[in-house]
Amino acid sequence: MDWMNIELEAWAGEAKERVLRESIPARNRTGYIERGGRLLLNLSSNDYLGLAGHPAILEAMRDSLLHEAAGSGASRLVTGNGPSFSRLEEAVAQWQQSEAALVFANGYAANSGVISALVGRGDVVFSDRLNHASIVDGITLSRAEHARYRHNDMEHLHSLLTKYQGARRKLIVTDTVFSMDGDHALLRKLVQLKREHGAMLMVDEAHGSGIYGAHGEGLCHKMGLKHEVDVHMGTFSKAFGVYGAYVCGSRTLIRWLVNKARPLIYSTALPPVVLAGVYTALELVRTEAIRRVQLDEGSRLLRDALREAGFRVGSGDSPIIPVVIGDNDTALSFSSALEEEGIAAVAIRPPTVPEGTARIRFSVSAAHTAADLLDAAVRIRRVGLRMGVIVS
Ligand code: PMP
Repeated sequence: MDWMNIELEAWAGEAKERVLRESIPARNRTGYIERGGRLLLNLSSNDYLGLAGHPAILEAMRDSLLHEAAGSGASRLVTGNGPSFSRLEEAVAQWQQSEAALVFANGYAANSGVISALVGRGDVVFSDRLNHASIVDGITLSRAEHARYRHNDMEHLHSLLTKYQGARRKLIVTDTVFSMDGDHALLRKLVQLKREHGAMLMVDEAHGSGIYGAHGEGLCHKMGLKHEVDVHMGTFSKAFGVYGAYVCGSRTLIRWLVNKARPLIYSTALPPVVLAGVYTALELVRTEAIRRVQLDEGSRLLRDALREAGFRVGSGDSPIIPVVIGDNDTALSFSSALEEEGIAAVAIRPPTVPEGTARIRFSVSAAHTAADLLDAAVRIRRVGLRMGVIVS
């Protein structure tokens, strides 16, 4: 196994090695973590609405543990499909105004399972170059042709759709909010192209659901496009603060996935305790619009402050704020310096992002106060000046 050490050393030499570090959610302080005994403002979590520690969610989970088993015991198609699944799926379908919904173990399983169920050899998937890794892996698993288009480049997508017009099935797939850049997909244009070329359209709302739409349904709903999209996917692990994922669409789609999506068929069903937490989280996501307002205000505040300080913060307006540094070493040092300043903000490096675009990905939560964020902006600016990433 020496080859591993050799490759790992080379990887470490390029400042690409990933290491697991322990983070403990701070007691009674949502939006903060403890690391090495220090309290840090957490600007790296996806707990966008600050629900991960919500007492009502924890209470629902405690209650489930008093009455239900720890594990579901089998896959959903065997005996693992407890009543909490249909209760949650009905609520999700109603919330999404879809015919039907299907719960998956997590977003990775949903994307890889859905894509490999929808297409196969002889088909083509048109996928934005910045789509999430679980989409890329789903395409690889499907054995369909992978036609990657340049990020949000609709001309490029159009030319690829034309090139592959004879394909058996065509699937266009996109994140609605790109996870490492925080910008939006051009959904209206995607709908138009899907129609013109007779393709299916699938969206990943991992960073959109809970955040956009009057009831947090996602970006497609906010843009009035909910009925134009064939497959809606979203997660319960980010804005919902719990774990798991959903797929919504027609009854036929869900029937197909129950028969063809391998991560659903061949993997143990989620434990009831998770479903109980998600069910309560959905109620909070739907009804507590104030959290979306707080999130939007906080995101705007931090983004504007960083832009004013001279950082390049990308073109998005979501809670994800990328500060592109460039080389891996500098991004790592930047992240360590922020930690010294009391801020957890992780460096994201290739291959997660393209070579030469290592960055700090800041993400805001409704749990952060304006004072937290303004104070963070001052500290981030101080580090940026010290490291020469910005000039005064
Ligand atoms: N899609 C996107 C866009 C994501 O950012 C993520 C999580 N990083 C996933 C899918 C996977 O979701 P999960 O963490 O629930 O597996």
